[in-house]
Amino acid sequence: MSYKSGRHFLQIPGPSPVPERLVRAMSQAVIDHRGPEFGELGRDVLAGIKRIFQTDSPVVIYPASGTGAWEAALVNTLSPGDRVLMCETGQFATLWHELATRLGVEVEFLPGDWRHGADPVAIAERLSRDTEHHIQAVCVVHNETSTGVTSRIADIRQAINGTGHPALFMVDTISGLASAEYKHDEWGVDVTVSGSQKGLMLPPGISFNALSDKALARSKQSALPKSYWDWASMLAGNATGYFPYTPATNLLYGLKEAIAMLEEEGLDNIFARHQRHAEATRRAVQAWGLEVLCLNPEEYSPVLTTVLLPEGQDADALRKVILERFDMSLGAGLGKLKGRVFRIGHLGDINDLTLLGTLAGVEMGLVAAGVPHSPGGVQAAMRFLADH
Ligand SMILES: *Cc1c(COP(=O)(O)O)cnc(C)c1O
Repeated sequence: MSYKSGRHFLQIPGPSPVPERLVRAMSQAVIDHRGPEFGELGRDVLAGIKRIFQTDSPVVIYPASGTGAWEAALVNTLSPGDRVLMCETGQFATLWHELATRLGVEVEFLPGDWRHGADPVAIAERLSRDTEHHIQAVCVVHNETSTGVTSRIADIRQAINGTGHPALFMVDTISGLASAEYKHDEWGVDVTVSGSQKGLMLPPGISFNALSDKALARSKQSALPKSYWDWASMLAGNATGYFPYTPATNLLYGLKEAIAMLEEEGLDNIFARHQRHAEATRRAVQAWGLEVLCLNPEEYSPVLTTVLLPEGQDADALRKVILERFDMSLGAGLGKLKGRVFRIGHLGDINDLTLLGTLAGVEMGLVAAGVPHSPGGVQAAMRFLADH
């Protein structure tokens, strides 16, 4: 491969580009994870990550991808044969469903069209029919990365409360944390699952479970087998800043710095920045005459925008042209959306000009790949960014 000048545009919705400051923070000698120096790092990140989840409850950190934290949330709270209610928001919800099924959990999957978030009314309706409380948990993906649609977590919590049903509420915000507004405590979530490589701007490799008192109480009775994922041994070690097995030390150096960066910018400013970039992106898509996959404006993702191509157009061919000609990676259509859509990530460490470069790459790609569209998407985004 010959040298490619300039920076590769990694505009997939995770992993997101890792800022230099984090690369430098992670480029340190590995230390003894049982030594005194480590305890300080451990205590720092365990306290800091709670502020990012907006919780006073413990947050468990695993050396694993997000999928591991999905599994951890289930094996720590459920027993074989337990019934859980999941919502078909897209490919990630489908994968979590498959994982739960393999663990021996009975999953009821509320159907969805992949263009709307989970429906609070449908969830409440199903729970109120469960008069004997067989359903142990409701699981929802907050930011469905395969579709660019968010689910209204606070509304779903209210709907669950309205039924008086005692099910746990578990949420995947693997791609939402630190990009889309998220309040673990205020929204009454029992287990929140997240990962390092999306809004936290880190490389892949660590993932999280934020807990609640209710989830902790349930974990005492849960009978699914667990060892590596066991919250109890994690929390015992974490009390003094340590871990029961070797943690991903250098990613924790990065996490400490990522938390500092997020707090320097301010979470609310970060959420507003993502909303603004998402709006600019949608204006570009609209100007091209293409369709945003998400159908409910209240559920537009601030993290990514999924663009539906006209019938007969191959989104993978378009992405290939964009990668080869302009050195930019865009997200592929996943599951049943394969070839039908492409996904523009606008999360993490990006600014107005990164976004405009991204949109310019897409617009040039549409021309080069011969996808019918109207020109002027980048212009529309520029106009919006200049005015707002
Ligand atoms: C990325 C992602 C996952 C999977 O995480 P891995 O780190 O790839 O295991 C799960 N759910 C959502 C919503 C995601 O965006």
